[in-house]
Amino acid sequence: MIYDFYQSKKYKEKQSAIIKENWRKGLFDFHFKREERVCAREGCHRIFKVIPSDPKIYCSKNCAARVNNVKGGSRPDKIKLKIAKALKGRKNPHKGTKRVPRIETICANPRCKKIFLREPWVNRKFCSNKCVMEVISRRPTSPKAARGKAGIRTDISKTIYFYSRWEANVARLFEYLGIKWIHQAKTFDLVSQTYTPDFYLPERDIEKFL
Ligand SMILES: [Zn+2]
Ligand SMILES: [Zn+2]
Repeated sequence: MIYDFYQSKKYKEKQSAIIKENWRKGLFDFHFKREERVCAREGCHRIFKVIPSDPKIYCSKNCAARVNNVKGGSRPDKIKLKIAKALKGRKNPHKGTKRVPRIETICANPRCKKIFLREPWVNRKFCSNKCVMEVISRRPTSPKAARGKAGIRTDISKTIYFYSRWEANVARLFEYLGIKWIHQAKTFDLVSQTYTPDFYLPERDIEKFL
C-alpha cells in the first residue's frame, strides 16, 4: 500500500528524532509554561498564574464582575413596580397543584428491610442500589443462564436451593468424595457489587464457584 511507509522503521525513527529535537528547542514548553499576572482591578492587584494564551486580566470572576458589571445589583424600584403591575390579577401558576403522597415501602432485601418512601408511579422494591446488588447479584440473571434446573434437591439437602444441575452435581460429588462443603458460606464485598461463591470447603479453606 502507498501508506505503508508510515509503519516503516526508518520513518518512525526519523519522526522520533524530529520530535525529540523540537522538545530540546523548547517548542513544546507551552504545555507547562505559566505566566504571572497582576490583577487589573484597582484595590486588588493580586498576582495570579495563567497559561500564556489565556486572555484573563482579573484574578477572579469576582474581580471581573466588579469592574465589568457596575450597573448590576437588585432591580430599581421603578422596574419592580412595573413588573408587579403587569402581573396583577394573574393566577398563581402553582395554585391547586397537589403534592402526591409518597408510599411507605419495606425494602425487599431480607437483610435490610428498611422502610423507604417512593412515588406511587415508581415501582421500587429496594431502598437502594446497594440492596438491589446484594439480592440480584446473588442469582443468575435468567433461568437460562443457570444452564439447568434450579431448585431444591432432596437427595442432598431439604433446605439448600441450587441454581443449576451442575451446582447440585458438584455437591453430590463432594458428598461422594467425602469432602466437607458449605453452600454459599461467604459473601465478598467487591466494592461495586457483592459476590458469593457457591461452595466453601472448610477443610481446605477454599471457595469454589461454578
Ligand atoms: Zn483581583
Ligand atoms: Zn434496603
